[in-house]
Amino acid sequence: MQSIRQTRPDPLAFLADREEVSLDVPSADAAIGFWSKDYHGLSRHPDVVKAVVEAIATRGLGSGAARAEADGTPAFEELERRLAAFRVVEAVMTFQTGFMTNLGVLTTIAGEADSVIYDQMSHPSVGDGIRLSGAQGITYVHRDLGALESALRHVRRKGAAAGPRRVVVATDAVFGMEGDVAPLFEIAGLAEQFGAVLVVDDAHGFGVLGRGGRGAVDHFGLHGRVDVEVGTLSKAIGALGGFAGGRTYLKQQLVRARPTLSSTALPPAIAVGAIAALAVLDNEPERVERLWSNAGYLRTRLRALGFDTGASETPIVPIRVGDARVTSQLWAGLRTIGVDTQRIINSRVSPRLRLIVTSEHSTEDLDYCVQAMRDVGARIGLI
Ligand SMILES: *Cc1c(COP(=O)(O)O)cnc(C)c1O
Repeated sequence: MQSIRQTRPDPLAFLADREEVSLDVPSADAAIGFWSKDYHGLSRHPDVVKAVVEAIATRGLGSGAARAEADGTPAFEELERRLAAFRVVEAVMTFQTGFMTNLGVLTTIAGEADSVIYDQMSHPSVGDGIRLSGAQGITYVHRDLGALESALRHVRRKGAAAGPRRVVVATDAVFGMEGDVAPLFEIAGLAEQFGAVLVVDDAHGFGVLGRGGRGAVDHFGLHGRVDVEVGTLSKAIGALGGFAGGRTYLKQQLVRARPTLSSTALPPAIAVGAIAALAVLDNEPERVERLWSNAGYLRTRLRALGFDTGASETPIVPIRVGDARVTSQLWAGLRTIGVDTQRIINSRVSPRLRLIVTSEHSTEDLDYCVQAMRDVGARIGLI
């Protein structure tokens, strides 16, 4: 490292006293990975790679401007039309990431006079979006309908005294740390009963739940009853970006959100790649069936070995260990024999390993993982 001569006491020196956070980098190409959210391997699909390479060759890399001015706009408009058709919503607006989508959506639909009631396990971008909007944020106990209903009653009672206020209910469809699913049908009923706007973050449901991966709204038969569907292009689509779907007038207002006006648009090649990936998903719905059968196969076997997979029902399979040191032992032991997972040890959830199953895993991959989990788990005394 180049040494830099200090000419004054460093006002940032307090950062050096904080605990260092190391990033776990996937080990080797030869390993079998269970960490990627690229549920169908579409980031490497030949159709996708070809489309992206061609787009970069003709249009270059960066988009050069925010969405409103960028000349890649036609590619994004095409992607938005296709996403709207696939997900069966009137209109879709894309953003640079799923994270930015939540910031854009929440600041557009909520303000200081409003309340947003959200599941305590929602993605961090939901809480950040609420804070940025200035709205009052109220969490409810994870997936607890009674807690949601009493929060709704509470804000409606207060709201009646204070004048009209907008109430928003927000939840993830699939929760990334647990792999469990929100009771969306009942949540939609409560939102309707209390006249609340319903926002569903379907980042882990798109490409996974519903017919052919159409998402949580399709899975629960809730078309027309979810006001804002947030999704990401970074997971099952294998690209980068986020989107919000709903009515045309929602899109028209999202065009004025800060991430759209004041941050550079994604490269048009990303839109072209996402269009190609969506076409693969649309044409090969059997990928989604394979994903679910792979997930069930792995989870059933890990449970039978005595691992605690919590309430997981999706391709996200947590191994709840409860102790950070033991989690790291399991993670490192698996890594040395070619199984890459993710350890979650510095988080708001209890220490755990997280395995994410994809439709690209072969039965041999899954069997190898089960064997490795049995060997390492037994060696460290976990099972
Ligand atoms: C991953 C995720 C996001 C963030 O999406 P990015 O495209 O990675 O920024 C937002 N919400 C939920 C529920 C997620 O799982």
